[in-house]
Amino acid sequence: MEKILIVDDSTLQAAQLKSILKDEYDITIAQTAEEGLWLVENGEYSLILLDVVMPGMDGFTLLKKLQEEIVTRSIPVILITSLSDVKNEQYGLVLGAVDYITKPFHSLIVKARVNTHIKLYNYRMQAEVQSMTDQLTGVANRRRYEHYSIAKWQEAARLQVPISICMFDIDHFKKYNDTFGHPAGDKVIASIAKTASACFRRNTDFFARYGGEEFVAISMGNSSEKMFGYLKKIRQAIENLHIPHDPSVSEWVTVSVGGVTTIPQASSSYELYLKIADTMLYDAKKYGRNMVVWADESMKQMREK
Ligand code: GH3
Ligand code: MG
Ligand code: MG
Repeated sequence: MEKILIVDDSTLQAAQLKSILKDEYDITIAQTAEEGLWLVENGEYSLILLDVVMPGMDGFTLLKKLQEEIVTRSIPVILITSLSDVKNEQYGLVLGAVDYITKPFHSLIVKARVNTHIKLYNYRMQAEVQSMTDQLTGVANRRRYEHYSIAKWQEAARLQVPISICMFDIDHFKKYNDTFGHPAGDKVIASIAKTASACFRRNTDFFARYGGEEFVAISMGNSSEKMFGYLKKIRQAIENLHIPHDPSVSEWVTVSVGGVTTIPQASSSYELYLKIADTMLYDAKKYGRNMVVWADESMKQMREK
């Protein structure tokens, strides 16, 4: 059941709205704007019904706060008020409310408006997820990676924890396409993405298709040694899929991996460290492919073979 939050200081009015909607939705009631804000930030609501006139923080102020935060900005807000004058209505809509309901309530109207806005919200969320997902592999795409990497880099800098950036590239993949055809190549990209992404499932981890036959992973909190060891296992797991390659290049399809671990300093940029990971990947190719090459915290290189 989808969750709706009612923020209203009048218990009677909130109970009235709840009774109209409770058969179709999971309803939570907050009696102050402050409590409402806390609930929205800690729960997954698909819609907010917000009273305008409340003691303490009023509905307009809460709406402004919700619009300022990325996580709460997309949740539709319907304002409830007895002030049916045009000025208030306009002000609420300018602030970002999607609709207005005026007292006294007509249950059919309330239901219809709520249903419409929840439907629209779900379409929007679906489209957003789709636009951030790679169609072939189902993992995050380049666009989502661009958002995520910068946010995580800043977080690591703020918390002063290690962050690792890791690039994967499938070995001799042009040859694979030439021998087995492009559709078969697509299947290989999908299976490798599945195997590798399964190894980056913690909420401090991230895995995306960087483009073509290349992937990128970001992991927070681990030392370079730990990451180097972990990536060796992942590289091995991909080899162990035993996807036959063209025998003129290798027995199985493999990947080369380059990475770097660092605690970001004020002077260091994400782009620089991505470039270092890419250089490590280049070295992995140069030293014979199917291997992991890693730059540790003091920029010393660790090589698998
Ligand atoms: P290396 O070991 O040096 O990485 O050699 P490589 O052949 O993998 O590298 P190169 O960059 O020359 O070629 C990458 C190939 O990946 C060429 C391209 O046809 C293929 N490729 C890129 N994207 C896709 C895709 O979405 N599907 C398929 N099937 N092939 C792709
Ligand atoms: Mg490549
Ligand atoms: Mg390649």
